[in-house]
Amino acid sequence: MYDIGLFLSALTAGALAGSFLNVVIHRGPSLWGLVDAPDDGHGDLLWPRSYCPSCRAPIRYLHLIPIVSFFVLRGRCADCGARIPLRYPLVEIAAALHAIAVLTIFGPTIAAAFAALFGWILLALAVVDWETGYLPDWLTGTLALAGIAANTLSTFAPLPAAMIGTAAGVIVFWAIGAAWRRWRGVEALGLGDAKLLGALGAWMGWEALPIIVLTGSLASLAGVALSNLRGARIGAGDAVPFGPGLALGGYLVFLAGPLLS
Ligand SMILES: [Zn+2]
Repeated sequence: MYDIGLFLSALTAGALAGSFLNVVIHRGPSLWGLVDAPDDGHGDLLWPRSYCPSCRAPIRYLHLIPIVSFFVLRGRCADCGARIPLRYPLVEIAAALHAIAVLTIFGPTIAAAFAALFGWILLALAVVDWETGYLPDWLTGTLALAGIAANTLSTFAPLPAAMIGTAAGVIVFWAIGAAWRRWRGVEALGLGDAKLLGALGAWMGWEALPIIVLTGSLASLAGVALSNLRGARIGAGDAVPFGPGLALGGYLVFLAGPLLS
């Protein structure tokens, strides 16, 4: 068992990472030209410092504390009272829980640091796809490169398997998408989904691709069923973003690996 200092460090690092992910999620899609800039302009990822999109007041330093500030402020801007989306604390909490999960599974190792990065980038991808319908190349590309970097030391998979996995993930999914388009005439899988699967292959190697696709499909189906239970009417012919399900599936398979072995 690790000591409380390590635990608190992981918690803090995770919450801070989540805070940065919120900036990426808010500003990234318009910065990368995928969607129109939000009303408050998109800035870049590091500048200007965080401010309220409604009244443009800079967020006071005391109110930049991840997770805590949201509850202290009761979910509202300290200056104008505009509602802060629940997504902010949820992303910070998820990023912090992930940091604790990887510390628990991998211990204080390089593998844990890479695994933390893996989950954080996936989290940003899932939320961006959920909100915009896009899986930005900047994020899938960073995820793939980080996976290859981690596996130069065979941290999670042998390097050749990781490189084959990257290529196979993109090509297989792209081919399925193209075949489906010809057969049914609808866009079922975007190229972004193919790149995400390739990036997951970079982390886990080609052998893991079938189980990732299966788990990702089940997660997507569960998501659709849950939405329908809550009143949405999503039918077989409707386009559903596959990215969040695929990200969740990839995440579960990644963490299950060391737990099961
Ligand atoms: Zn405000």
